Amino acid sequence: MNSVQSKGTALVTGASSGIGAIYAERLAARGFDLLLVARDEQRLQRAAMRLRAEHGVQVEVLKADLTLKADVITVEQRLRSDASISLLLNNAGVAADGTLAGADLDQLERMIQLNVVAVTRLASAAAASFSQAGRGAIINIASVVALFPERFNATYSASKAYVLSLTQSLNAELCGSGVQVQAVLPGVTRTEIWERSGIDASAIPAEMVMEAGEMVDAALSGFDQGELVTLPSLPDAADWDAFVAARYVLGPNLSRNTAAARYK
Ligand code: NAP
Repeated sequence: MNSVQSKGTALVTGASSGIGAIYAERLAARGFDLLLVARDEQRLQRAAMRLRAEHGVQVEVLKADLTLKADVITVEQRLRSDASISLLLNNAGVAADGTLAGADLDQLERMIQLNVVAVTRLASAAAASFSQAGRGAIINIASVVALFPERFNATYSASKAYVLSLTQSLNAELCGSGVQVQAVLPGVTRTEIWERSGIDASAIPAEMVMEAGEMVDAALSGFDQGELVTLPSLPDAADWDAFVAARYVLGPNLSRNTAAARYK
């Protein structure tokens, strides 16, 4: 049972390191009970012990490899059946290096399973159960490469563009449901992701690299401000608003019954 002060349970995927581990800590500090999901159970148990002791919240560990359908379905069913869950943080993700032509396609497929398929299935389950309850929040961790695919590995960028697009559509679908939706687009953030994907992060200019704590605090501030899309390092929010406005200008002309004059 949640205590009177409890905000419910936050289900955090990829809670064993990096951005997910920091979110888990910040959400515990905000009074959420936690359901921590990742593959490394020992690491999750260590984090759980610390978070219980430091924040007095309930913390459960659920070991799952989200590239495996059976494991995704287990997490999905928990989202559907556990009414205490009020926040889904879709954070688990991997990156990749190299060109599409030279890629290890099995590795890319696993990345798509994790970054795209699992995110979709968990967001769907959360959307169904949260909208029925008339409350809750879904936070999806995308990346700035969603906006700049030419700058990074093709499949990783495309997977993050998918997460951004999914979040924007989902937000429209959940309008008026009481469910808050946010896509977070971090820039380069100091975590294990670089080493894990074989990318030499020391080659990245220091002024482009944010500490994970600062990134998560900014993302949670954007969440508190009700932002649909949060770009933690963007100095002027008007630049993003202009980007969105430019998209809306295209709107009325994107589908018409006649081809443009330049194509005739
Ligand atoms: P990280 O430190 O490598 O953490 C990744 C997390 O995902 C770990 O907890 C890992 O736990 C989990 N994970 C990996 N494969 C998994 C699988 N098959 N099943 C379940 N969990 C799995 O990286 P991070 O930077 O914090 O990444 C978190 C998110 O931020 C990702 O979606 C990433 O794309 C995004 N992001 C990162 C950056 C950056 O520069 N760091 C920038 C933009 C976006 P286990 O190994 O224990 O399973």
